[in-house]
Amino acid sequence: MSTSFVPYGVIGNPIAHSQSPWIHAQFAKQTGINMTYEAIECKPDNFADTVKKLRKQKYAGFNVTVPFKHEAFELADTQAPRAKLAQAANTLAWQVPEGKKKAILYADNTDGAGFIRDLMFTAGFTFGGEQVLLLGAGGAAAGVLGSLIAVAAAGITIANRTKEKAQKLVENHLTWSNMHSVALHACSLDDVLYENEVNQSLPEKYALVINATSSSLAGEVLTIPTSLTKPDAMFYDLMYGEKAKPFLEAAAAQEFRHRTRDGLGMLVEQAALSFALWHGVRPNTAPVLAELRAMVNAK
Ligand code: NAP
Repeated sequence: MSTSFVPYGVIGNPIAHSQSPWIHAQFAKQTGINMTYEAIECKPDNFADTVKKLRKQKYAGFNVTVPFKHEAFELADTQAPRAKLAQAANTLAWQVPEGKKKAILYADNTDGAGFIRDLMFTAGFTFGGEQVLLLGAGGAAAGVLGSLIAVAAAGITIANRTKEKAQKLVENHLTWSNMHSVALHACSLDDVLYENEVNQSLPEKYALVINATSSSLAGEVLTIPTSLTKPDAMFYDLMYGEKAKPFLEAAAAQEFRHRTRDGLGMLVEQAALSFALWHGVRPNTAPVLAELRAMVNAK
C-alpha cells in the first residue's frame, strides 16, 4: 500500500533561515501525519503566481512570512476574523465549503494567538487590568494587537517610528477594542523612549512591553525609561535568539526584577495553530520548544 505525503510549506523572502520546516517535521512525527514541509523562496512580485503554481502541484496549505502576509490576506477567497483585524495572514489553506465541491483559499493569522499562548501559558504572564506598550506597527504588531485586546489589557499604547502607521492600526481595531473596553493610544516611538508630558500623564505604568519592531536588525537598541514601566514588567521581543538579545539585555540591566522573553515560543505556538488548522490535531509544543531552544542556544 502506498502512503502519499501531502506537501505544505512556508513562503517568504528571505526564507533560508526559517525554523518552520524543522518545527513542522517534529509535529508530523509526533502526530503521525504524512506531510512534507519546505521553505519556499519567492520573488517579491511573484507571490500570487507562486501560490497558483504550487496549488497545481497539490500543495494543501502554506505559512506565509515577510514580506507577503498582506498579499496572502488579499489573495484569499475568505478570511478568518482575526486575519481581517490584522489585514494580514500567516496561514493559507484550501478548504471545501459545506455543500460545495470546489475548494476555496482560506486565510488565517495565528501570530496573535501563538503570542498569547506563549506569554500566558508558557511564560506565566497574567493580565489584570494591565497597561501594555506595543513597539512597532508593522505586520507583526498588527498580528498580535487583536489578541492582546481580547485578553483584556486595560489599555494599549502603540508606539511607532512612523506615527501615522500606529494611528492606522488603532483605527482598524477601534470597534474590537470598544467591544472589549480596552483603551488604545497611538504615539511616536520617541514619545516612549524619552520622558515627556505625554507619557508622564499615563494613569498606570506599563506591565508588558512588546518589541515588534525590526530595530535590532539596524543595530538599534530600544530602551524604555524605568519611570514608565512597573518594576516587575515583562519585556517580550518577537525576535528570538541573538537578534532579541540587545532589547532584552538592556531591559534586564535596568532593573533586576524585569522579566524577559524572546519570540521562540511564539514561533512554535503559531506553527502549532497552523498545523491544527490544516490537520485538525494540535501537537504538543513543549518538547518541540525545548529542543529548538537548545539548538538555537548552541549556535
Ligand atoms: P515589518 O512589517 O517590516 O515592520 C517593521 C516594524 O519595525 C515597523 O513598525 C517599523 O517602523 C519598525 N522599525 C524598523 N526599523 C526600525 C528602527 N531602526 N527603529 C525603530 N523602528 C524600526 O516587520 P514585521 O513583520 O512586523 O516583523 C517585525 C519583527 O517581528 C521581525 O523581526 C520578525 O522576525 C518578528 N516576528 C516574529 C514572529 C514570531 O513568531 N516570533 C512572528 C512574526 C514576526 P516604521 O513603520 O516606521 O517603518
